[in-house]
Amino acid sequence: MGADVRQLKTILIVGGGSAGWMAAALFSKLFKGLYEIALIESEAIGTIGVGEATIPAIKTFNDLIGLDENDFMRRTQASFKLGIQFVDWDRIGSSYIHGFGVIGRDLEWLRCHQYWLKMRAAGKASDLAAYSINTAAALQNRFMRADPKRPTSPLGHIAHAFHFDAGLYARYLRGMSEAAGVRRREGKVVSVKLKPEDGFVESVTLEDGAVVSADLFIDCSGFRGLIIEQAMKTGYEDWSHWLPCDRAMAVPCARTEPFTPYTRSTARPAGWQWRIPLQHRTGNGHVYSSRHMDDEEAERILLSNLDGAQMAEPNRIRFLAGKRRQIWNRNCVAAGLASGFLEPLESTSLHLIQSVLIRLVRMMPDAGFDPATIAEFNRQTDFEYERIRDFIILHYKATERDDTPFWRYCRDMDVPVTLERKIDLFRANGRIFREDDELFAEESWIQVLLGQGMIPAGYDPLVDVTPEADIERFLADVEAVIGKCVALMPSHADYVERVCPAA
Ligand code: FAD
Repeated sequence: MGADVRQLKTILIVGGGSAGWMAAALFSKLFKGLYEIALIESEAIGTIGVGEATIPAIKTFNDLIGLDENDFMRRTQASFKLGIQFVDWDRIGSSYIHGFGVIGRDLEWLRCHQYWLKMRAAGKASDLAAYSINTAAALQNRFMRADPKRPTSPLGHIAHAFHFDAGLYARYLRGMSEAAGVRRREGKVVSVKLKPEDGFVESVTLEDGAVVSADLFIDCSGFRGLIIEQAMKTGYEDWSHWLPCDRAMAVPCARTEPFTPYTRSTARPAGWQWRIPLQHRTGNGHVYSSRHMDDEEAERILLSNLDGAQMAEPNRIRFLAGKRRQIWNRNCVAAGLASGFLEPLESTSLHLIQSVLIRLVRMMPDAGFDPATIAEFNRQTDFEYERIRDFIILHYKATERDDTPFWRYCRDMDVPVTLERKIDLFRANGRIFREDDELFAEESWIQVLLGQGMIPAGYDPLVDVTPEADIERFLADVEAVIGKCVALMPSHADYVERVCPAA
């Protein structure tokens, strides 16, 4: 054995919300005692208490930390999620679903939607929803997991995520992490000490006077960004001119039927309202722009649009869309709300936590804090954040709504050039390309662009190489097969009751 060149020995996670316990669970599982890991949290401060809807990538994280899916679902009161329904976004009365997974199947080397565009214009195609197994199943409140034994059937391509109680999830991960050796300390951090010579974090001091030092600090302290911002003054990129919503109010209500396998997002006069079905309750929240609506009006709208009995007083939250200028600064990496915030319209926050953590694992500063590694980490993280930001902005920009000052602002605002390029390309002929490893695939962009009323002027010329009668048969076949598959699926409520009912 050679000499131990590892400079990284201790990791301190500050914060015990979803971000803190996801970090603790991942590091303790993957590094198996290589580093000493401690977590500080303050029960008196508590957690944000929201964050219930996810995207399919969370399965990768749960697999990495070794969660059994049914056990995880039972313990977190979870339900399955096939996509998100958007109501009143394009115009009042409109509705579409952004379903996970594929749309139809490719023909030759074009995507299904290109053929659909031609046939739709000719009045010979059904709604796009009929060609997605996820969306077609969601509309009938049916669910089953993908069947790996049927790789050529749509039943082999069902893509799912979850709705779950984030507080229970954090508790679950805490149990796993502590069992794997993570040391938890209860207490409030009152100050952070930086080394005068290089600005690296040296230690944090707790209210009881205890001083805790570490080599690497993971700031999971929530919006306050205790280390990354309050101590290190890293700076924040403000994106609120593109995403003007800056307030949210969340309230649970009693579970009602049907037990939908999707999140619902309903546009409101100055924002939107979510509905997230869990086994023991339904989560609801209103995200709005305080420049366009006051809190009383926002609360009235939220409470008058619950479909079950209200179970608590609304939890009020303020935020600013954007991200830290450097999510990794010196020996501190921010995860979760401490790293930035994009509203939960596409359920991406928990995903951003996992991807920051996994990226850090891949670039662990084991032999010291190399500036090239930190720069690469920040470049990749910025890219991911910015492309998700663009996707969320698209929902506001691509609207025909002009019924309130908020919607007129959104419709008329300038958008980032990266988004403008995508919209212009799609408008011309329905083409869309996933850039590098951006989170949302072509299918996601296509469904939201079309769902928000952006019908391209043309379609790919290669479509015309296939005789129209063949295209008609192809689309009819895809639709019929999906229809038959959906009919085989049980209801979402029955499936959950049979496979993973909460304890
Ligand atoms: P928090 O939950 O705020 O935790 C911060 C932790 O730091 C707490 O343990 C606190 O005690 C501790 N702490 C703070 N200061 C100190 C101190 N001085 N000393 C010691 N400890 C301290 N995400 C999704 O993926 N899907 C969703 O549907 C979704 N919906 C959301 C809706 C809203 C309105 C909001 C605001 C967010 C939503 N999110 C969603 C995001 C999600 O809630 C967060 O990303 C997630 O909960 C992680 O939060 P966190 O752990 O970073 O912060």
